[in-house]
Amino acid sequence: MTVRRGRLERSPLSLSCDVAIVGSGAGGSMAAYELAGRGLSVVVLEEGAYHRPRQFDQREEHMLPSLFRELGGQRTDDLSLLVLSGRGVGGSTVHNTNLCKRTAPEILAHWREEFGLSGLETATLDPLFAEVESLLGVVPIRPEQLSSHNAVFKRGVEALGHAGGMLSHNRDDRCIGSGFCELGCAYDGKKNALRVLLPEAMRRGAVVVSDARVDRVVYDDRRASAVRGRLLDEHGVPRGDFEVRCEAVCLAGSAIGSASVALRSGLPDPHQQIGRHLHLHPGVAVAGRFEERVEGWRGIPQSYECTEFLDLSPGSERRAWILPSFAHPVGTATVTPGFGPRLLSAMRAYPHLGVLAAMVHDVTEGRVYLEGDRTRIAYVPGASDRAQLALGAREASRILLAAGARDVMMPGVPPATIRTEAELEEITEERFHPHDVPLTAVHPMGSMRMGTDPRSSVVDATGRLHTMDNVWVTDGSLFPTSIGTPPQLSIYTFALKVARGLELA
Ligand SMILES: Cc1cc2nc3c(=O)[nH]c(=O)nc-3n(C[C@H](O)[C@H](O)[C@H](O)COP(=O)(O)OP(=O)(O)OC[C@H]3O[C@@H](n4cnc5c(N)ncnc54)[C@H](O)[C@@H]3O)c2cc1C
Ligand code: SF4
Repeated sequence: MTVRRGRLERSPLSLSCDVAIVGSGAGGSMAAYELAGRGLSVVVLEEGAYHRPRQFDQREEHMLPSLFRELGGQRTDDLSLLVLSGRGVGGSTVHNTNLCKRTAPEILAHWREEFGLSGLETATLDPLFAEVESLLGVVPIRPEQLSSHNAVFKRGVEALGHAGGMLSHNRDDRCIGSGFCELGCAYDGKKNALRVLLPEAMRRGAVVVSDARVDRVVYDDRRASAVRGRLLDEHGVPRGDFEVRCEAVCLAGSAIGSASVALRSGLPDPHQQIGRHLHLHPGVAVAGRFEERVEGWRGIPQSYECTEFLDLSPGSERRAWILPSFAHPVGTATVTPGFGPRLLSAMRAYPHLGVLAAMVHDVTEGRVYLEGDRTRIAYVPGASDRAQLALGAREASRILLAAGARDVMMPGVPPATIRTEAELEEITEERFHPHDVPLTAVHPMGSMRMGTDPRSSVVDATGRLHTMDNVWVTDGSLFPTSIGTPPQLSIYTFALKVARGLELA
């Protein structure tokens, strides 16, 4: 595929099209694929670089800065929560772990009832989900593909009689089970935006420009006429300008990037909703030390889930989703307690570790805002979500012990070592005040949410801004609430739905 690279383009770059799409991740790529397929001229602007599989060298020190926003160090404004999301052609789909789940019926029902959103009936959405699953080759992981790490987890879940099961992924036979999904796939085994949707969008006539950061949408009254921004060099430093004149704009820069562009543009927002209602699915990890060699870095990651503590109905107090979460050595070392010889000794256990994450279907609402020109994220888990983090950490630790772990280590200040029932019961909400335990989030959503009431939402059920005639949102920003499960399939599907309904006036 031929991506135009902003770092090599003559400046100022000037283009025109029917639809300008900001961002090339799950939502942007699907919108480009669909709109170009309808015969519209499409230009996709992507802030990050264009990487090919042969460049994914499986080194954390190279891939984290290359593929992630803020070099892999994006944090909330009080620095207590690491928010990982992608930056590059294909967005976060390049380095995600390929889990695919449809939006749960309980969540869709809540969105219909609480937010008045029509068109979200299962009968309407199921064919769209099926279409996306077929396009991206979503299939369940086969039992013989279960890695030793996932098998240890399954052993613990089954020993406790908990609900669990195999997950489905968008990968195909090119996947050799290297275990490096989060650093990009050198074997091109992921059927994602980079491999499937963007090449097909380009075959259909779409233009994709990398290293091109959109700074603002140019508009007059209710109509956008262009997007403007900066061409970036290989270090992400502005080297020139661009303008893309257009009949419509799709914001698809992720729940952080899209809100940031909308705020920077000063799009009309009489009720100050843009950037609010941000959900993140905050997660905590615990590590079990086993006598056996688990070698958690080998094989397909995240193939099995525990849903015993995940009830997605409104008001639920079981909102923790537990799954394996193995980090590569640098990531593990950064959260392992101790320095020098103590850290070295702890890291010697690396091949014997089994690591589980508990991710919370969060009710906390954060906010994307601008501080000067800088995008900031405000998010502090409330008491109810801290209790869910504790529930998740406790039950994940129990699963590791049931699987045969000698002990379980929970990083934090101070770190905890858990061997007994009494020690499990000490994992309470109190341990989860900001900075006490390292928290990570990889699912930003909801910052430009859908709804029928402009006083409490940004876009309508078709994904169009209440205040604009020709600006749509086609990414995770759309979700009215947290969805509690991996979001990419929902984002691809809602982007398809929005793009299919987009009409040029
Ligand atoms: C480590 C990790 C693992 C994950 N694993 C899974 C998983 O297994 N299953 C799952 O469902 N989800 C997973 N996710 C989450 C999933 O990948 C994201 O929810 C999804 O890709 C988000 O789609 P999006 O379109 O909203 O944004 P993204 O895919 O993040 O794409 C947004 C793109 O827009 C670009 N952009 C932003 N601002 C601008 C701007 N101003 N101008 C131009 N471009 C801009 C960004 O650079 C980025 O490339 C994972 C995420 C991470 C970080
Ligand atoms: S596990 Fe499969 S999809 Fe993931 S990086 Fe390795 S080969 Fe690619």
